[in-house]
Amino acid sequence: MQEIYNFSAGPAVMPKPVLKQIQNEMMSYRGSGQSVLEMSHRSSLFQEIIKKAEETLRALMQIPDEYDVLFLQGGASLQFTMVPLNLGIKKAGYIHTGIWAKKAIQEAEKLADLEVAVLASSAAKNFTYIPEITSVPQYLDYVHLTTNNTIEGTAFYTLPKTGDVPLVGDLSSNILSFDYDVKDFGLIYAGAQKNMGPAGMTVVIVRKDLLGKKKGLPAMIDYKLQAENDSMYNTPPTFAIYAAGLVFDWLKKQGGIKEMEQRSRQKAQLLYETLDASSLFYSSVAKKDRSLTTIPFMTGNSDLDDQFIKEAEKVGLVNLKGHRSVGGMRASLYNAFPLTGVETLTAFMQDFEQQNGGNRDV
Ligand SMILES: *Cc1c(COP(=O)(O)O)cnc(C)c1O
Repeated sequence: MQEIYNFSAGPAVMPKPVLKQIQNEMMSYRGSGQSVLEMSHRSSLFQEIIKKAEETLRALMQIPDEYDVLFLQGGASLQFTMVPLNLGIKKAGYIHTGIWAKKAIQEAEKLADLEVAVLASSAAKNFTYIPEITSVPQYLDYVHLTTNNTIEGTAFYTLPKTGDVPLVGDLSSNILSFDYDVKDFGLIYAGAQKNMGPAGMTVVIVRKDLLGKKKGLPAMIDYKLQAENDSMYNTPPTFAIYAAGLVFDWLKKQGGIKEMEQRSRQKAQLLYETLDASSLFYSSVAKKDRSLTTIPFMTGNSDLDDQFIKEAEKVGLVNLKGHRSVGGMRASLYNAFPLTGVETLTAFMQDFEQQNGGNRDV
């Protein structure tokens, strides 16, 4: 089997040792004779798995006791609906920094009783930067932002000061790669399939005082009910929770989030330096707001982009095609993606540039 480097935006690369462990435990989990796939979610074996996954995530992110951790289904996209349904009483504020933020706004706008205010937007400049938010109206129920804009390649490194208004963060594409302080948020959510494990599980971290603000919600979308039932109101995504738990263990062994942030900086820096030195490839994103985990780049010529993607694939650099709305290429450098993959990519970019009209030496 050819070694490849997988730049997929999600579902994305997972740590090899975790995949190995899943393989080893597939037929018989810890000598039980059962696969995790076959196990009742009420069994003591699975109770241990979900409890440990939560404990490890709490340790990694230093999640305080006044927050509940939920393992839900429906992806980050269901959170676009659950957040306003649970927390939105009169008026919510949104920061519009890209396609995923837009989807969150659109879902909130569907709720008839909720007024939605867009507090800031970078739409006029194609979402190539993070807008500044100097103050936030204190009557808002919450303020929503997307910490890493997966498609556009921008990220928040300082969070807006929202005072007493809870900040809600969609951390889907940089959770566990950048060391955010959980206490700065009222609620955090993230789909697992980018930086935590397989698709099928969504992590929600919610401050307990935000639960139960609205009565009579349908059971499956009521955070309070989910919290009271320890994410087991119905059958949770057992295998995804198990696999994410192994990824959390792996992260802890690697040195935790600070170490992951350090490695992310190193990987991203190498790619950005290559882009900035290139006369063929470029990044459109404002330097101070550039993402560490999802990095779009292009040549400005879509035929050449396509050629690059094809030739890259031949040497084992796969899934580099950019999102259809941005075009070009995108390198997703999540925690499980190794530095050697970025070294291989940047060397390949330099070769490609020499052969295809780059004039860096001129
Ligand atoms: C991928 C992504 C989503 C959508 O996630 P699903 O789990 O597929 O619903 C939402 N927000 C961000 C920032 C994402 O990167």
